[in-house]
Amino acid sequence: MNLTKTTQSLEKNGYKVSVFQTLEEADRYLNQQIDSTTVGLGGSMTIEEMGSFQTLSTHNEVYWHWHPADGLTAEDTRKKAMDTAIYLSSVNAISEDGEMVNIDGAGNRLASTLYGHEKVYFIAGTNKIVENLHQAIDRARNVAAPLNGKRLDCKTPCAVKGNRCYDCNSEERICNAMVIHYKKMMSSEMEVILIEESAGY
Ligand code: SF4
Repeated sequence: MNLTKTTQSLEKNGYKVSVFQTLEEADRYLNQQIDSTTVGLGGSMTIEEMGSFQTLSTHNEVYWHWHPADGLTAEDTRKKAMDTAIYLSSVNAISEDGEMVNIDGAGNRLASTLYGHEKVYFIAGTNKIVENLHQAIDRARNVAAPLNGKRLDCKTPCAVKGNRCYDCNSEERICNAMVIHYKKMMSSEMEVILIEESAGY
């Protein structure tokens, strides 16, 4: 894994990039950057491990369907999160050439990383970095998605039989769309937060 090459490639592709050694440092940085605004979060074990929902909620209006506010369903919260100034998402895989790959079941996270927010932060541990786009797609499909299937206790072959994708037709399939971010989208500021420790799937 070549962190320097990945950082340079992401910058060349139009993203601001900030590198931190620990989840705690990354969370502290985000907590300084994001203040007195509205924030939406996509489903993310990395963000959960960072504790950013809790820290940001002390001085922002934060919507995360993993922690719906009183009186809101998870679906209500997903919709509220799509209408915020700031959006935080993790990434299933990043190539050293600066492409990012994400797979979604509901699509809220993919939609928000493409359009609609003033600024999007992509957050990832360096365990998500692979050499090229082919490997990034493979990681998203055969590593990240099966681990998420297991976490969610889905009745899908990846969760039941083993850690690879079977391109299933299960009703509980969590891989319904994939987005490849080749370069920064036109209408949002975008920053990639890379963390030099393993985080999420
Ligand atoms: S397509 Fe199905 S088998 Fe493949 S990772 Fe997604 S849920 Fe699992």
